[in-house]
Amino acid sequence: MADTPITQDLVTLPRTPPQGRTNLIGLTRAQLRDALIAAGTAEKQARMRSGQVWQWLYHWGARDFAAMTNLAKPYRAWLAEHFTIEVPAIVSRSVSADGTRKYLLRIAGGHEVEAVYIPEEGRGTLCVSSQVGCTLTCSFCHTGTQRLVRNLTASEIVGQVMVARDDLGEWPEPGKPRPQTRLVSNLVLMGMGEPLYNFENVRDAMQVVMDNEGLSLSRKRITLSTSGIVPEIARTAEEIGCLLAVSFHATTDEVRDKLVPINRKWNIATLLEALRAYPKLSNSERITFEYVMLKGVNDSDEDARRLVRLIAGIPAKINLIPFNEWPGAPYERSDPERIEAFADIVHKAGYASPIRTPRGEDIMAACGQLKSASERARKGRRAAAE
Ligand code: SAH
Ligand code: SF4
Repeated sequence: MADTPITQDLVTLPRTPPQGRTNLIGLTRAQLRDALIAAGTAEKQARMRSGQVWQWLYHWGARDFAAMTNLAKPYRAWLAEHFTIEVPAIVSRSVSADGTRKYLLRIAGGHEVEAVYIPEEGRGTLCVSSQVGCTLTCSFCHTGTQRLVRNLTASEIVGQVMVARDDLGEWPEPGKPRPQTRLVSNLVLMGMGEPLYNFENVRDAMQVVMDNEGLSLSRKRITLSTSGIVPEIARTAEEIGCLLAVSFHATTDEVRDKLVPINRKWNIATLLEALRAYPKLSNSERITFEYVMLKGVNDSDEDARRLVRLIAGIPAKINLIPFNEWPGAPYERSDPERIEAFADIVHKAGYASPIRTPRGEDIMAACGQLKSASERARKGRRAAAE
């Protein structure tokens, strides 16, 4: 198992570098047990040992085998010889005036991804990335202009949660009662990348994150956002079971083809068919339709009425996202009155239609503004040279 490739489509990254030790972060429970066995732990002990290690990793947030005090000392030393506990390194952390924190993280190969923590009253949402960049090219999205792409490993996805909890100081302390409210109470796969183009790693990472002897985020507190990779939608319901958000953004194929080019492959009708089946398959209440408000492009009353007709029968919430600008963006944000009028039509048709308040705009942490700083710098240098 040590040499099994763990990403398939973009770049193949072996979990274990040659002669290296295996990083335990991001292995599912079954993979962790198998890894202990493959390295020499007796099969009949492996279940218990892996359970103990799991708790240290994900309940206590341990980063050192020496701290795993309910394991015999020689076994701890043995673990350290064969395994590591590694999470992405924080390159920089920006804190917005509204408390939003953006982390720029370095991962294997010198790549960088961003994760964003959004504190709210009595809860907090962590937005994680699933790829470096994105192979799709939605015309309003900053990440879509980034060429460099590779899938994140399950370890790097779980690692983003671990890093945020480190930074927020949210690991329990032995003997101290756990606080009532959680800082990272919700998780959204809405950072860089298309999660359904990295399905296996996202699924495995979510299995780790959902496990209730560890990070313990229930499937109802995880929302995966997709641009509409239709063949993977039913699989998401069956194999992950989290809540689903879809980047809808337009009410005709003509406009959606331009905004979300994957629409040319799976058009609105095909997408809606897959979405109709989702709530039942995943036993979840409703789907979130994300709708970015672009001035004069998709924000008319007619669009609002068409949207309501299209989604008729699907239990849904419509999240209206005022367009977040980025340098060189070809669109403008709709006026607040336009957004209100649009929201009103949707609301009167019986759907919740919250307008998403942009968070962390001052640190370029808002939806669609994420892009690795190194990539920004590269582009900047190129522009300066031209
Ligand atoms: N790739 C996935 C998840 C990441 S994007 C997806 O597309 O669903 C998270 C959300 O932010 C998506 O709905 C996306 O369409 C939206 N978004 C992208 N760029 C934006 C921008 N500049 N302003 C506002 N929302 C944007
Ligand atoms: Fe990729 Fe989503 Fe951005 Fe589209 S909106 S380019 S799918 S990250």
